Amino acid sequence: MINLISDTVTKPTKGMLKAMMGAEVGDDVFKTDPTVNKLQSKVAEMFGMEDALFFPSGTMANQTAIKILTQPGDKMFCDKWAHVYNFEGGGAAFNAGVTSHLLDGERGMFEPEQLTEAISGSRSDIHVPYARLVAIENTTNKGGGACWDYEKLVKIRKICSKNDLALHLDGARLFNALVAKKESTEQYGKIFDTISICMSKGLGAPVGSLLVGSKDHIERALRVRKLFGGAMRQSGYLAAAVDYALDNHIERLAIDHTRAKVIGASLQRCELIKNVEPIETNIVIFNVIDSINENDFISRMNDAGISLISMGSGKLRMVTHLDFTEEMLERVVLTIENI
Ligand SMILES: *Cc1c(COP(=O)(O)O)cnc(C)c1O
Repeated sequence: MINLISDTVTKPTKGMLKAMMGAEVGDDVFKTDPTVNKLQSKVAEMFGMEDALFFPSGTMANQTAIKILTQPGDKMFCDKWAHVYNFEGGGAAFNAGVTSHLLDGERGMFEPEQLTEAISGSRSDIHVPYARLVAIENTTNKGGGACWDYEKLVKIRKICSKNDLALHLDGARLFNALVAKKESTEQYGKIFDTISICMSKGLGAPVGSLLVGSKDHIERALRVRKLFGGAMRQSGYLAAAVDYALDNHIERLAIDHTRAKVIGASLQRCELIKNVEPIETNIVIFNVIDSINENDFISRMNDAGISLISMGSGKLRMVTHLDFTEEMLERVVLTIENI
């Protein structure tokens, strides 16, 4: 089976497993796991930020950031397609008691002007929830792996500073954006208060995310992670996988991006496909023509040994990743040609 459902389906490589097996570990709740400590310092340094904290999931890292940056009743601004709003079980409301103000963006990205307009009046008027936080997603998941324009993020940073708003980045696929746009981690560390990165997506670790921020933010995040049940013991085995991924799997993301574009081009030539959304990174989103059922298309692909998922309202998704090879790509292209 060729699994294109998500970039989370990868299994640790031999090299990664070897790194995990050889990891020196301790009890991280007592801060004595050397592999975790080393990883946290390394990631903080990569972003030019003060500190970082290892988490079992991206959801927990995002939810912790929302919790430490807000008070109950406050308002968070994010795009209407944001993962923090749509796919984290209502956590912003449940964990932090935060109201979400959704901005009507394009492919998961909004304009700085939309933010300015949305925050107007939300400090002076006591009827309006207190504006406290802006959450950005890069790349955007539901937006088909789209990358933000860095200059727009700088503008958003300025708006946040002027209005005393915190700025969080859900960077579950930030490394895909950095590789695609030739940007650096430091650039991002400069403009965000907190950044979450997910290592079990394109980077191929089995488990693990990190939250990066100031000393003060990470100290508070440590307490919240405990409260959420996310403090782990000999997590150095997992941190070793993440460390290996940082050293070996970032640059190769460009290969995933090229392969996604090849799939996109073959879909574009296929009569059963109505349109393919622009492909910037490793996510391919497309619609089938009205006269066929999307589930029929999925089962025909399944019959050929290829799995993909529906994102609802006629949208289908394929995601390239570390375990998706050149041979598999040829089979996918051939299957689409003959479907
Ligand atoms: C996957 C993902 C997350 C968090 O993922 P976990 O499955 O909890 O690790 C957060 N944001 C985005 C955009 C994602 O794609």
